Amino acid sequence: MDVLISGAGVAGPALAFWLSRFGISATVVERAPSLRTGGQAVDFRGEAHLSVLRRMGLLDAVRAAATTPRDMVFRGVDGRERARLPASFTAGEVEVLRGDLSRLLHDASAADAEYVFGDWVTALHDDGAGVDVEFARGRPRRFDFVVGADGMRSGVRRLTFPDYRPRFQGYYFALWPADGDDRDLTCAPGVLSAPGWVLFKSPVPPELLPDELIAPDVYFDSISQVRMPSVSSGRVTLLGDAGYGSTLGGMGTGLAVVSAYVLAGELAAGGDAFARYEALVGPYARGCQGNPGPFLAPGTRLGMWVRDRVFGFLDKAPVFARMDLRAATAIKLPEYARVR
Ligand SMILES: Cc1cc2nc3c(=O)[nH]c(=O)nc-3n(C[C@H](O)[C@H](O)[C@H](O)COP(=O)(O)OP(=O)(O)OC[C@H]3O[C@@H](n4cnc5c(N)ncnc54)[C@H](O)[C@@H]3O)c2cc1C
Repeated sequence: MDVLISGAGVAGPALAFWLSRFGISATVVERAPSLRTGGQAVDFRGEAHLSVLRRMGLLDAVRAAATTPRDMVFRGVDGRERARLPASFTAGEVEVLRGDLSRLLHDASAADAEYVFGDWVTALHDDGAGVDVEFARGRPRRFDFVVGADGMRSGVRRLTFPDYRPRFQGYYFALWPADGDDRDLTCAPGVLSAPGWVLFKSPVPPELLPDELIAPDVYFDSISQVRMPSVSSGRVTLLGDAGYGSTLGGMGTGLAVVSAYVLAGELAAGGDAFARYEALVGPYARGCQGNPGPFLAPGTRLGMWVRDRVFGFLDKAPVFARMDLRAATAIKLPEYARVR
């Protein structure tokens, strides 16, 4: 069986890894000319996330690359500290730079999968027995299945579900490489910024360019959620942010890694794999989606005052951290037969 994966972020390489362990051949096509190693810290929390990393043999490597969790300090424009979001609340159990994670997953899968950089899918023709795929640069090829793991602005999603638009949540954010402490935040109504990132409120719904066309190092997006009745059509399905995205502050990275394991296992098991994948991952993913915009950068001074009071309370109220943990662990991982 040959599977085409569009996108070499987190979900794509994780799926390529698992497909090879289940004896399925994977080709990963990534639009950027090389692995995009940008981004701030992402985290894993709870046994489902950790268990998949452990089964991949990567938990120790992820722990070795882990960042040191730090409180997020919120300052007014006068520089005075207004509030603090405890590290225990933001960092999960293992926090790692997204770029380091993407590199680890790529390196763990590269020997067994074909990676094609600087190309993307332009057309999909599903005839029920396979999918003929056209690319912007490479020659057309045929695959048994196609998986869109190409992020919030997924090209495979656009081709397969042309009328679908993610739900805009009223905020935008940008991330870029910068020196300085990315946890030392300056806030004003509807705006939060720190070295390397900014989050801001805007009522204007987006029509955005692919972000590598804005600048190769910058990740710019709206805060949006992907909630579709089904993420599959025929022999094509969506994984990670493409199918279940909630950009920033959700648990997108842990979700992507767990979902990649399930999708690969179900494909290997045969039959109506996508239906079983969606039945397992869909409800889990919806429980993990959130919109951190109003929580982090409320639009009014009163909202900021309330936020600061709530943050002061979080340390003393582990119930909030447990809510995240409950969502992150709300899946029973199936056991699949590995060929190696
Ligand atoms: C550069 C970058 C930085 C990020 N930084 C953060 C962060 O700091 N904090 C955070 O919470 N989340 C961040 N994210 C998002 C986070 O990685 C995801 O929410 C999560 O890990 C799920 O990963 P994913 O693989 O589904 O999507 P992504 O990690 O977004 O990966 C999608 C991949 O698909 C590629 N792609 C896009 N369009 C196409 C196409 N048409 N054809 C082929 N390939 C395509 C993209 O270049 C990218 O490599 C970042 C994503 C990127 C790409």
